[in-house]
Amino acid sequence: MEVTPDLFRSVMGEFATGVTVVTTLCNGGQPYGVTVNSFTSLSLHPPLILICLDRELSGLEHFERVGRFGVNILSEEQAEESAFFAQHGSNRSGFSYVQGKEGLPLLEGCLACLACQVVDTYPAGDHVILIGRVTWAEHRSKPGKPLVFYAGRYTSLAE
Ligand SMILES: Cc1cc2nc3c(=O)[nH]c(=O)nc-3n(C[C@H](O)[C@H](O)[C@H](O)COP(=O)(O)OP(=O)(O)OC[C@H]3O[C@@H](n4cnc5c(N)ncnc54)[C@H](O)[C@@H]3O)c2cc1C
Repeated sequence: MEVTPDLFRSVMGEFATGVTVVTTLCNGGQPYGVTVNSFTSLSLHPPLILICLDRELSGLEHFERVGRFGVNILSEEQAEESAFFAQHGSNRSGFSYVQGKEGLPLLEGCLACLACQVVDTYPAGDHVILIGRVTWAEHRSKPGKPLVFYAGRYTSLAE
């Protein structure tokens, strides 16, 4: 049976993920962020993570040029932020970021944040895999529950 894009998408929807907003800087130094659920822990020694970005993503060049990015792990209260950073169009300036430790823009109210240095990129189908070495990581604000993406919808963990 052929694995059509619709079948692939709906089968992969059975795999629940957390949600992150990955941030970097535009040409003029303005913050840029994009919603990403392809975030994965990759290695402990050294600490590596990976994300997969669409080759058509309008902000892809920012990640390639800056070579560093922040990862903001969203709480269950941040579905609105996730939708904002998944919108079409590259203008993401209507959001108040905070300045992160290494000059990267970060979001407030997240469960945790990381700063990463791009150490490798690999083309893969219609996406690009970015491998990031974690240079800084921190739990943020109050402890809470993660935002969960499942079957194309936002949900949260049961009590
Ligand atoms: C829960 C969740 C998880 C996600 N996880 C990921 C992930 O892991 N990786 C990932 O890559 N994405 C992911 N996304 C999707 C991602 O957030 C969006 O695709 C992204 O924010 C869209 O931004 P864009 O500026 O590229 O959009 P678009 O505006 O759709 O731009 C896409 C392309 O079209 C071009 N374009 C747009 N408008 C025009 C026009 N008028 N004329 C000509 N060209 C045009 C742009 O230049 C760009 O190249 C996720 C979304 C959600 C909701």
